[in-house]
Amino acid sequence: MFDESPPTFLIHPFVLPGESHEVSIKPMPEQNQDCIFCQIVAGEIPGRIVYEDDYALAFLDANPLARGHTLVIPKQHYERLDDVPDDEATALYSAIHELVPAIEAAVDAPATTVAFNNGEAAGQEVPHTHAHIVPRFEGDGGGPIHSMFGSRPNLSDDELDDTADEIEP
Ligand code: 5GP
Ligand code: ZN
Repeated sequence: MFDESPPTFLIHPFVLPGESHEVSIKPMPEQNQDCIFCQIVAGEIPGRIVYEDDYALAFLDANPLARGHTLVIPKQHYERLDDVPDDEATALYSAIHELVPAIEAAVDAPATTVAFNNGEAAGQEVPHTHAHIVPRFEGDGGGPIHSMFGSRPNLSDDELDDTADEIEP
């Protein structure tokens, strides 16, 4: 029987400039239908987009902690920071690096807090990894990252040495 279905091509979704590939067409990033941020990438729900490249997108947070509070995401759906492949992670950092001074200039902020809530236990509510860029001002009441924790563990030098040994990237 004659098959009328269109031909299927296997195309690597991300092609970095300068890399040699036979096909350089970039299809839409892989998305999760239920994910709010994937829906913003797809243009299905509105977002105040402030930056876009082939791999990353940035838009204003809908419930900002400060004027200019921006979220930076990989266009492809990954739940956690450590799920993002190397090349897309590099692009994500590059977008953050470019956005931080642009956001500070836009809202005349002398500083920013840049953070990932990486995993539910760390407060991640939207399961599509994202960097928060929050403009900071003297006396804004936000405090440093250390102010998030009521107490600190009292670790001995041996425990710190053991911990350092156990971390094997
Ligand atoms: P999380 O707690 O996951 O690190 O942060 C999620 C962030 O996404 C929150 O700051 C929240 O205000 C923001 N957010 C949630 N839903 C939407 C949305 O539909 N549009 C935008 N622009 N931001 C959202
Ligand atoms: Zn998503």
